[in-house]
Amino acid sequence: MNAAGAVIARVALDTPAGELFDYSIPASLAGTVQPGQLVTVPFGRRLVPGLVTALAESTDVPADKLRDLATVCDSIPPLDRAWLALGRFAARYYHRPLGEVLLPALPPMLRDPASWPRLAQRSHVLAYRLQEGAAADLLAALPPRAPGVRRLAEALIAHGSLDERAAVALYAQARTRLEAWCTAGWLVREQRAAALLDVRAASATPPPALHAEQCAAVEAITSATGFAPMLLHGVTGSGKTEVYLHAMAEVLARDPAAQVLMLVPEINLTPQLEARIAARFPHMPLATLHSGLAEQVRAMQWLAAHRGEARIVLGTRLAILASLPNLALILVDEEHDTSYKQQEGLRYSARDLAVWRAKQRGIPVVLGSATPSLETWWRARQGAYCTLTLRERAQADAVLPRIGLIDLNLERQRQRPLQDGLSVPLIEAMRQRLARGEQTLLFLNRRGYAPVLSCASCGWLSGCPRCSAYLVLHKPERRLRCHHCGWEERIPHHCPDCGNVDIAALGHGTQRLEERLVALFPEARIARIDADSTRRKGTAEALFEEVHAGQVDILIGTQMIAKGHDFQRVTLVGVVNPDQAMFSHDFRAAEHLFAALMQVAGRAGRAGLPGEVLIQTRYGEASALQALLRHDYDGFADAQLAERQQAGLPPFSYQALLTAEHRELAGAQAFLRAAREEALALAGDTVHILDPVPMSMVRIANRERAQMLVESDSRMALQHLLAAWMPACDRLPQRQGVRWQLEIDPLRI
Ligand code: ADP
Ligand code: ZN
Ligand code: ZN
Repeated sequence: MNAAGAVIARVALDTPAGELFDYSIPASLAGTVQPGQLVTVPFGRRLVPGLVTALAESTDVPADKLRDLATVCDSIPPLDRAWLALGRFAARYYHRPLGEVLLPALPPMLRDPASWPRLAQRSHVLAYRLQEGAAADLLAALPPRAPGVRRLAEALIAHGSLDERAAVALYAQARTRLEAWCTAGWLVREQRAAALLDVRAASATPPPALHAEQCAAVEAITSATGFAPMLLHGVTGSGKTEVYLHAMAEVLARDPAAQVLMLVPEINLTPQLEARIAARFPHMPLATLHSGLAEQVRAMQWLAAHRGEARIVLGTRLAILASLPNLALILVDEEHDTSYKQQEGLRYSARDLAVWRAKQRGIPVVLGSATPSLETWWRARQGAYCTLTLRERAQADAVLPRIGLIDLNLERQRQRPLQDGLSVPLIEAMRQRLARGEQTLLFLNRRGYAPVLSCASCGWLSGCPRCSAYLVLHKPERRLRCHHCGWEERIPHHCPDCGNVDIAALGHGTQRLEERLVALFPEARIARIDADSTRRKGTAEALFEEVHAGQVDILIGTQMIAKGHDFQRVTLVGVVNPDQAMFSHDFRAAEHLFAALMQVAGRAGRAGLPGEVLIQTRYGEASALQALLRHDYDGFADAQLAERQQAGLPPFSYQALLTAEHRELAGAQAFLRAAREEALALAGDTVHILDPVPMSMVRIANRERAQMLVESDSRMALQHLLAAWMPACDRLPQRQGVRWQLEIDPLRI
């Protein structure tokens, strides 16, 4: 439609009231309004931000109700059609109002009209670009004994251009030299957007020569035409990141506008990777996107991606919603990681949206993992995804660690009791490492000192007053804390029920492990990394630095230490208590356990020193553990798939989970039962609607929760039902006092 002829703007607003809202375009703004533009509109008695999704010539809104659009944001270029289409798809697939998808996808500052004028003021920095054909002259003019100047010249030649900060990092007197070269006509000055340069300036590092399997993978990615979903399957250390970097280099070199999006699971992994990318591509504008950034920085990075200035965008799951007008390649590292699933608001899977975006744009998407999700593995097995495999560890001297089990039943028969959860063989293995000056990593996915406090005399347990959960003992902080609702209280001196002073900590968390290790190995340097020890900003980085610098002998940690970090001197990984994951009713528990253990195991023996992994367990026969001993992901995954197929579970069926919470369980259940009646009336026999059940943790923060699963062999049939069913649920009288939500493809049920 011609913008000049349109008089009506369809505007998405961030409100639960489903539809789009029509506003008339006043004469003063005629011709300036386009789809994808941020605007402000009157809504009730307020002015609110909105996003124009379409223009129209007429509206059903009666003339006396129709209001004028207030202002148009002209400092931010309109979002493009592809981005709006992504929003529409997500709204439809996850069954949310469009406005509740589109506006929250923007960084907070972009949703705040008061800050729009500030976003227009872009600050620039100076960069120098080498002129065509000037390299030879430049080299010929180099002074003979000035290594700094030579470094500078070589970086310019290698990358075509350098920004001022990177240049000064290479050679302190760079400025004078660069200006002289400009005068000689070899360089030209350029301006670049400043926010992009918030990366540590690093000198370019030459890439390693790829081995054959890596070459084949890069070749497959870069030669693909059109939509090409691929699984990059390789154990930790097999060189997947190198494959990403090479494929990225090729795609960026081929098209001077191309943008590459790389997703990573965790914020605490991005600094390392960011530095590695910056070192490899010192001339490429790199933007990072994650929720830990200051608002202003995040807005600037997002806009750099939106304007096409950022060529590489590195981010966590929220980056999948970034506007990337020239997107040419998507990389999803550790694609199996559950943090790709957003757990509130729009409950999207960033990995699934990545595949959708690649399809929409007709580009390759690479899903990398040592332990792919069974959904991805199945598609690869079916041939829907192309599989690229890296079989060996990349560094010549790195071999896969030996994995062994410590049978805790046997330990008991031998009457060798655990010492705060540590078995004699594990303690001995640690002692050996200490003697040799090597590092040990102990993995225990439970923070705090002990998961519960108990009275030996009357059996009292430290329950949370607001949740159906126990208060966790935090000894250094002298508190009992609920990990679900945040409730805190002082540690009681005696049993609140019977007055007995003999109350004891049951079970083990990382703090207790640390206390025991300090007693066992007084000479060792011990560090603990978990959400408690790293609460202050920067402490996690500092602790990891100490480990890398060899200032730590034993590192204890939760899943925070399991991922991404390349610990060169760790030769022993101890898994203290994997058994707590074995009794889950969740059908994905085995899959998640296998992935987690494979990840921690991957921390051992990365450079030359042979690594060993010791797993303490009472259930050595469990298939996940047996497969792990053989490093056999394929066998494990195929066996799991066969079981899932038999049971009709995902990926052989599609699920949606309706959850409801109310002050009382009965209220939540009543809503779900009414919703079930509605669904039964709408559903054919292709969709199966299960009974409502209380959630395994019924109460959190004084709200009680129940859930109901809906499943089908056909994604279409399920989607079809949901589209008709959700509006019906909205009208149910039983929804009074109930907070309810629908989750598509739930990860935990
Ligand atoms: P992954 O991402 O699979 O864990 P990385 O790409 O980080 O693996 O590689 C692991 C280590 O091996 C890194 O230190 C990396 O620099 C090195 N590496 C990767 N590919 C090669 C190669 N072809 N030759 C030598 N070293 C390599
Ligand atoms: Zn008691
Ligand atoms: Zn609680």
